[in-house]
This record gives sequence, C-alpha cells and structure tokens, in this order.
Amino acid sequence: MTQIFDNPADFADEALDGFVAANRGYVARVDGGVVRSTEVPAGQVALVIGGGSGHYPAFAGLVGPGLAAGSACGNMFASPAAGQVYRVARAASAGGGVLLSYGNYAGDVLHFGQAQLRLNAEGIETRTVLVTDDIASAPPEQIEKRRGIAGDLTVFKVAGAAAEAGLGLDEVERLAIKTNHRTRSLGVAFGGCTLPGADAPLFTVPEGQMSLGLGIHGEPGISEHPMPTASELAGLLVSRLLADKPEDAGTRVVAIVNGLGTVKYDELFLLFGKIETLLTAAGLTVVEPECGELVTSLDMSGLSLTLLWLDGELEQYWAAPADTPAFRKGNLAPRARRELAAADETAAEEAEHATTAAADLGRQAAAVLTRVRDVVVEHEEELGNLDAIAGDGDHGIGMRRGVDAAVAAAEQAVAAGASVGRVLTAAGEAWSERAGGTSGALWGSAVIAAGLALGNRDSYSGGDAAAAVTAFVGAITELGKAELGDKTMVDALLPFRDAFLTAFGAGMPVAASLAAAAEAATAAADGTSGLRPLKGRARPLAEKSLGHPDPGAVSFALISERIARHHASVRATPEPAASDTASGAGNGVRKND
Ligand code: ADP
Ligand code: MG
Repeated sequence: MTQIFDNPADFADEALDGFVAANRGYVARVDGGVVRSTEVPAGQVALVIGGGSGHYPAFAGLVGPGLAAGSACGNMFASPAAGQVYRVARAASAGGGVLLSYGNYAGDVLHFGQAQLRLNAEGIETRTVLVTDDIASAPPEQIEKRRGIAGDLTVFKVAGAAAEAGLGLDEVERLAIKTNHRTRSLGVAFGGCTLPGADAPLFTVPEGQMSLGLGIHGEPGISEHPMPTASELAGLLVSRLLADKPEDAGTRVVAIVNGLGTVKYDELFLLFGKIETLLTAAGLTVVEPECGELVTSLDMSGLSLTLLWLDGELEQYWAAPADTPAFRKGNLAPRARRELAAADETAAEEAEHATTAAADLGRQAAAVLTRVRDVVVEHEEELGNLDAIAGDGDHGIGMRRGVDAAVAAAEQAVAAGASVGRVLTAAGEAWSERAGGTSGALWGSAVIAAGLALGNRDSYSGGDAAAAVTAFVGAITELGKAELGDKTMVDALLPFRDAFLTAFGAGMPVAASLAAAAEAATAAADGTSGLRPLKGRARPLAEKSLGHPDPGAVSFALISERIARHHASVRATPEPAASDTASGAGNGVRKND
C-alpha cells in the first residue's frame, strides 16, 4: 500500500521534487522530468529515457554520466505528455542528437513519437529505440509487439555508455537496437500493487498462487501456478528464457534478477544463487550480473529475470562505468555542475520577435481553432454515443477536453503576441496533454505538425496550405500507423488530403480546394460504416461497429467541413490584413488564389 502523501493527485510530482532534492549532484528538475545537473561534453549524444512514474529507479534514477542524459516522467503508470518529452529532450540535448528509448507501450509510443517529430522538425536529430524484452507479451514471431520491462536497463546502459564513449547517433542507435534484440525477460507476481489514494490494488493474485508473465502494471499474465519453491521458480524462469534465446546467442550473458517492489533483497539473492547455478550448468558464463530493484511497480510483490546475450562490443559497453543516483559501476571522473537555461526562454523570445503582421496571422489561426471548438461542442454527445457502440464512449468528451485546452493555449499565445507556428504548437501541445485517449494524442501532433510546417511568418501562399495539410495528415499516419480501411480517422484524412491536393494542383483557390476536400472527407467518413475496425480500442468489438461510422473519422469530417466554411467566409469578407492563415491561403501571388 502506498501511504505517504498529502494529495494523491500530486504524488508523482512531489516524489520527483523530493528525488531531485536528495540527488542535486546528479539531476536538475526541468518541466516534464529531470536532466543531468553536471556538464555534458558538447556534441555528446543525449540518451533520453522515460515513462510513467511508479517504477523507480526507472526512470529518473538512471540519469547521470555513462547512462541517461534526461528522463521524461509521466504521472503514475501513465506516459509523459509529448510536450514533456520534448522539453526534457531539448534541455538534455548537447548538440550530438537525441536517442529516445523507452518500453513499448501504446501511450508512450504516441507521446514520445510526437516529441520526436517535433525535435526533428526543429533541427535536433532524434531517433527512437523501443525496448521489447518481455517474452510473455507476444510470441517470438511478433517480437516487435512485446512490451518493455526490466530489459530497459540493459538497453539504456549500453546506449548510455556508447554515448559517453563519444560515438555518434547512428552507432548509439545501432548498439541500442542490438542490445534490445539480445535481451529477454520474464516476470512473476505474487501480489498486486495499489496506486496512491486507491482503495484496492490494480490486480490481485489468488492466495498461494503465482502469476507467470505479469507485466509491470498488472497486464494479464500467461498462466497461474501454485506458489513454487525457490528452486522450481529458478528452473521455470531459466528454462523459459533459454527457450526464447536469440540467434547467434553465444555463451556469455548478463543476468539480472529484478525485484518489483516488496520482495526482500535476501529473497532476491537466494533466487539469484540458484539461477546462476542453472545458467552455469547450461554452459553459460554469467558476466557482471545485477540483483536488486531496477524496474519496479510500486508495492507489487513480484520479480523478473532478464538475460542479455553479450558479444564483444556489448560486453564492453555493459561493463563501462556509470554514475547515477540508482546505478553506479566502476569509476568516472567527477563532473562540474552546469547552469541550465530557463525552460520557457525560447518561447518567450520567439513571441517577442513576431512582427505585427505575423501576430495578426497568429490571431487568425486561433480564430480557426475557435470554430473547431464550436463544431466539437455541437456534436460532443453524438460523438460520444458513436464511440460507445464499439469503443469506450469517450470520443466526444475527449475531443472537447482537447479542443478547449487548445483554444485556451492559443489565446494565451495570441495575448503574448505569438505568430502562427507558435500559436499552433502551443495549441497542439495542450490538446494532446489534456484530451487523453488516442485521438487526442494524434490531433495534438497533427496541429503541431501543421504549425511547424507553417512557421512564424508575415504572409503565406496557397502552397503553404498544401504543406500544412500534408504535414497534418502525415503526423497522424506516421504516429498512429493506421492504414486506409482500418476504420479510423485515417479513412477520412487521406481522401481529404488527396482531394485537397488534386483540386489545388488543378489551379483551384484554397477555399474551393478545402471545400472539395471536406466533401471527400464527409463521404469517406460515412463510408466507414461498412468497415470493421482493425486499430484502436474498437477492434475487439469489430462486429458491433459494423453499420456505424468510425467516431474519429466523423469528427474529422465535421471539423474539416467547418474549417472550409470558415475559410470561405473569411475570404468573402475582405479585411485590412486579408492574408489568410492557419488554413493557409495566400496573397494572390499564385494562380490558385
Ligand atoms: P480512445 O480510442 O483512446 O478512447 P477516442 O475515443 O477519443 O480515443 O478516439 C477514438 C478514435 O481514434 C477512433 O474512432 C479512431 O478514429 C481513432 N484512432 C484510434 N487509433 C488510431 C490510430 N492508430 N490511427 C488513427 N486513428 C486512430
Ligand atoms: Mg474512445
């Protein structure tokens, strides 16, 4: 039971504040997480890790020389928002690029993915390596679908050591991928864990039983067993992991026995001894093992075994020194403290430098978002009902929360004199942070992508509108990975984009191209009634969804239609500064407009 807190809602934040207070020689707090408080050599690759809180020492405890440069820290068991990842990565970056690495969970993939798009768009070269070590979560032929558990440590450690050695981003990424390919874990649980303030555990394991293959948040296991003896447990874990060993495994392994929260160190050591004996008997050499709490799950009673199959270079980086609050190995020369720039400096600077024309366009971009909010509010209930047929019924409320936050952030940016790119990135960030749900993360990224494509300028041409439409749709397909026919909003988005580009390419003005695109989106959204969902939460209830359109496709069609109408009305009413913006028309410089 987690008992020490004032307000459960502040638990993750206040625990992180206290962690930083106890470790100022290692870490400094930034908006969204922590970064090293010590000097990082210029040009070093920054390994940025992260995930939900409640897994200490993952993730903030692994920040320091030889390991991570920063950690994005979400709420309890919840992914950090994309904006948090982005800000931590920016603060951690030392000019050598960023490697994002984290366990493979849907929420983290969306939010870190969105941050990656944004960092790359801003010229900070960023790559991603997902950790997928848990053999219980998918069969070997779907290894990329496995989730990440204690294998986080091997991947982070090798990548961090490679960065410390001065290797470039390509090499650090290659070594992280290789380490992940050669890491396997399996966990067991004897009892559940309870979130701060909750009155019941997230899951329970029946008395006298052990659940095999349970994840680090209580995801379903593979099977239940009567509580084994230590020798039986060691045998079970070792045999399952050896049966799943990678090709070219070799004979040298790192073994990690990881406690998930409330198993005593003495018990972990006892088990480790038996595991080492079994591995040796199988002809393997155990190299620099670890035994202790490395990736936990609050007060969960359970443990896991991880094996990393070494080769020469992986062994070198695994054995290299590291110095972090929770993981220390070998000796590293002491580092000088560094000064961190104030978090919002760049944003404030950008806004200050916007010209009157650019700020006016920023205001017009915010006005477009207000129209989007109008249409979401009008259809909130209908969208919720549609999502309730085969999903979880939250599409209306989620869109509402997202767009309300987006409009508020846009208005704040406008009040600070911000231009289009700044208004839209602030709005998109707020959208994905506040909406919750898949569609919110995707909408937020799309709005940010459109903002980055448009930039902060004094005027726009029709070609900019085409670029913004392409970027908007591209962000959603890239992050969500849905394809045409999966029954998602992509089924309305792609026809929208194609109709826009076709009309615009044929010389039609932006307003008419938008109208044609919205019409295509509406028809396509209707057409999703005949499809079975292949992505998202509605997938398990695919049959129920037949005959009803996809909620995300419908909301997008409604919004596109409203934006097209708004654009046409703005064009019809000449204004002093008549260059349209976020939806992006021009000043008559092109044949289209
Ligand atoms: P959640 O599914 O998290 O409850 P919402 O209910 O707000 O989120 O949104 C559901 C909509 O999200 C679906 O109708 C679908 O259009 C869209 N969606 C879900 N997954 C994806 C994906 N991978 N790519 C694109 N759109 C998706
Ligand atoms: Mg939903």
